[in-house]
Amino acid sequence: MAETINFLIMDGKKVPFEPGQTILEAGRAAGVDIPTLCHMKQCRPTGACRVCLVEIKGARSLVTACTMPAAPGLEVQTAGERVIAARRLVIELLLASGRHDCVTCESNGQCLLQDLAYRYQVEGVRFPRPGQYPLTESFNPLIIRDFSKCILCGRCVQACNEIQVNQAISYGYRGSRSKIVAKGDLPLEQSDCVFCGECLRVCPVGALVEKKAKGRGRSWELTKVRTTCTYCGVGCQMHLHVKNGRIIKVTGVEEAEPNRGSLCVKGRFGFEFVHSEERLTAPLIREGEEFRQVSWKEALEFTAEKFKEIKQTYGPDSLAALTSARAANEENYLMQKLVRAGFGTNNIDHCARL
Ligand code: SF4
Ligand code: SF4
Ligand code: SF4
Repeated sequence: MAETINFLIMDGKKVPFEPGQTILEAGRAAGVDIPTLCHMKQCRPTGACRVCLVEIKGARSLVTACTMPAAPGLEVQTAGERVIAARRLVIELLLASGRHDCVTCESNGQCLLQDLAYRYQVEGVRFPRPGQYPLTESFNPLIIRDFSKCILCGRCVQACNEIQVNQAISYGYRGSRSKIVAKGDLPLEQSDCVFCGECLRVCPVGALVEKKAKGRGRSWELTKVRTTCTYCGVGCQMHLHVKNGRIIKVTGVEEAEPNRGSLCVKGRFGFEFVHSEERLTAPLIREGEEFRQVSWKEALEFTAEKFKEIKQTYGPDSLAALTSARAANEENYLMQKLVRAGFGTNNIDHCARL
């Protein structure tokens, strides 16, 4: 039996949709640009920011496209006058809710709220701003929480609870006192937070800031270099953000397997060893109490000779190797190949701490 294709009408055009899709999903699949601030495609929609308002023919009020299921024959306007006016008002209210001084903000140039204010030309804010905000939290060495820029979109809460399943943060208080809290409003380091930085990754504005990167370079000054995390064998894909030969921060590569933008605390924040003065950058051969720096060619030939000597004198089982869970799968595979096929022994194991 032929599959039935459902259509709705979006801005006068027929747009197909699959059962269960929302107006936002159907629109985006058809290339219709409906803006959002709170929506994350791997999480359930909340309609918290109300930027994705659209007009449905026959409905009294505008609806949020991220929560409204698509239905056959529905007539949707995504960019009519009423919709644009409503979006401008929502953006203005969000700007009025906080201290949005973009010039000094760490997110300047990579902020979704700033982009929307520009796109919809929201130039002034007619509403009174709150007199005070919860104090900025910057006790821990990794994440600064600037509540004066938080638009309460809830993305961090969803990322923590639904993507990382850490359950460390939630909405707290009510009305104008609402804020994102960790364990009954404690500093992050006293909560269940594991500092994976997923909240930092998804925050659309400058409310969550990477402490080590603050003031060290604007987004447009940093060069992105793609690489693979060296901390374990999972092989997370990451971007190093580099300025003047120094790593300023690390982010996960969006839409790339296996991590799809997520990282753990080590991958995201543990990069300073790269620039350590104590790091060995060339092989050393020990001669008595001294170490002599040698080329890789000499080091490899020397090591191979020693292995051969031990094997000939004491037999293959006198040799063994410990690999590491921190090495890539490919490196561990090559090591067992060397031990089994080269040394001729099965003495191969791994040590998680190497
Ligand atoms: S969070 Fe965005 S809108 Fe607010 S000050 Fe920073 S850049 Fe500007
Ligand atoms: S750093 Fe990770 S665990 Fe901590 S609040 Fe953010 S998402 Fe949750
Ligand atoms: S901290 Fe960022 S992600 Fe979390 S609610 Fe505030 S603006 Fe949204």
